[in-house]
Amino acid sequence: MSNETGSNDGAGVRTHRHAPASHGFELPALPEAVDIFDTTLRDGSQQEGLSLTVDDKLRVAEQLDHLGVAFIEGGWPGANPKDEEFFARAPAELRLSMATLVAFGSTRRPGVRPEDDEVLRHLVKANTEAVCIVAKASELHVVEALRTTHDEALAMAAESVAFLREHGLRVFFDAEHFFDGYRANPEFSMRVLRAAAEAGAETLVLCDTNGGTLPHDVERIVADVTGAFDCQVGVHFHNDSGCAVANTIAGVRAGATHVQGCINGYGERTGNADLAAAIPNLSLKLNIRTIPSERLERLTPVSHHIAELVNIAPNPQQPYVGAAAFAHKAGLHTSAIARRRDAYEHINPDAVGNGTRFVVSEMAGRSTLAMKAEELGLELDSDALGRVLDTLKDLEHRGYHFEVADGSLELLLRRATGWEQEFFELESFRVISDHEARHMTEATVKVRIDGARVLSTAEGNGPVNALDTALRQAIGAHYPGLAGIHLTDYRVRVLDSGRGTGAVTRVLIDTTDGERTWTTIGVSENIIDASWQALFDSIVYGLLHLRPEER
Ligand SMILES: [Zn+2]
Repeated sequence: MSNETGSNDGAGVRTHRHAPASHGFELPALPEAVDIFDTTLRDGSQQEGLSLTVDDKLRVAEQLDHLGVAFIEGGWPGANPKDEEFFARAPAELRLSMATLVAFGSTRRPGVRPEDDEVLRHLVKANTEAVCIVAKASELHVVEALRTTHDEALAMAAESVAFLREHGLRVFFDAEHFFDGYRANPEFSMRVLRAAAEAGAETLVLCDTNGGTLPHDVERIVADVTGAFDCQVGVHFHNDSGCAVANTIAGVRAGATHVQGCINGYGERTGNADLAAAIPNLSLKLNIRTIPSERLERLTPVSHHIAELVNIAPNPQQPYVGAAAFAHKAGLHTSAIARRRDAYEHINPDAVGNGTRFVVSEMAGRSTLAMKAEELGLELDSDALGRVLDTLKDLEHRGYHFEVADGSLELLLRRATGWEQEFFELESFRVISDHEARHMTEATVKVRIDGARVLSTAEGNGPVNALDTALRQAIGAHYPGLAGIHLTDYRVRVLDSGRGTGAVTRVLIDTTDGERTWTTIGVSENIIDASWQALFDSIVYGLLHLRPEER
């Protein structure tokens, strides 16, 4: 590694605050705090399939503020009418308690004066306290993409920063393609940073725009930059090598104190650095202040709430906040996990607002089930436990799969304690599918609720949709809280397909109330019956978990 020892080639004077390390280059002491800069609403919304209305954007920003990030990049005013409307409405409609709203743009174009540049003018008009501008910091991109000279690229950076500073704005400077550029021509990339710093940029943000850099290179390169500049250095990573979070940590170890990323790792291609992992890694493992420590437990609910707002199903395997992040498919080790959870979990899940979950599988024994009951706060004596175990085995034999249907499993366990849902009583339901007209399905549901008989008919684009609508119509007036609960996914699988249409159908339904997501199951030879079972459990589970005053 000795040939990679940082040298600054006239790009700046290296200060001597670095302690010696064994890497062949020097790392500073870890910072006490880093600023979290969320760019979900700008870079994150480049993700395929992610499209937000202005209202959605305002609500995502509220959630990020609730989480306690320092900066929220709201979008690119002037680039599209939606972002323009967002910045126009934000001052009146967005009450931020902690976060500073940031508008994004680029440096002036080549050969144009800053005051005549459309993008810079929009940035000034966006009415934010801070702006972030992107500049090309790689020689290749200056020559090939911009087709301009080194000197003009430096002038674009310096004059744009100076112009925004003259308008009283705090300026974050995104050095695009910095890592690739630095590897090819470090002197030029450092001169771009120098130009921005001297013009008054508050933070020099080193961007790995192609996302291909690995952590050891990040550490070395960021250390070179933090050693050469007195102003704040930030990092911005894309996840193309699967290293965005690791690179973020490497950058902070090398002295960066400003971290850009997106909640849930949203972003173009493979996404940006996932703040839902970067924040707890920095806070809990490196003891660096990120968001206020008492808000760390908001991480899981905020992550799920935003997933809901952007309409992308949460990834159960997402580190820290995923539904499976602390789920144990217990077998032989069940009792050991119960004794010493810390031996099987890398952090206490409560710290990030998540929880330990025991997955009950076909191999489940009595002790797993007992722990599941305990997790739910249910008291099951040995007889009841034995009966549930028998029921479970029988149902699994018939095609139920409770490992993925946590909602239905909980209802099953509750029923074993003698509990019965009293929200409504089903008398009957009927579904008619008419392929003559518009391919609509019609469902009729008859229920008894509070002693009264209610009959409701609704149309839908399929049996589940029609039944869901009819049931909600029938009981919705009694339970206005139901309006906040909706189905997010519906999956059908045919089991034993060798039997053709006589096969058994398994239906899984995912439901959410915006913070919690649950899965319910139905199995039957009749797809409508299977769908009804899953739907029924989904609604009952939702009502059960609403606080009585919210129902
Ligand atoms: Zn980016």
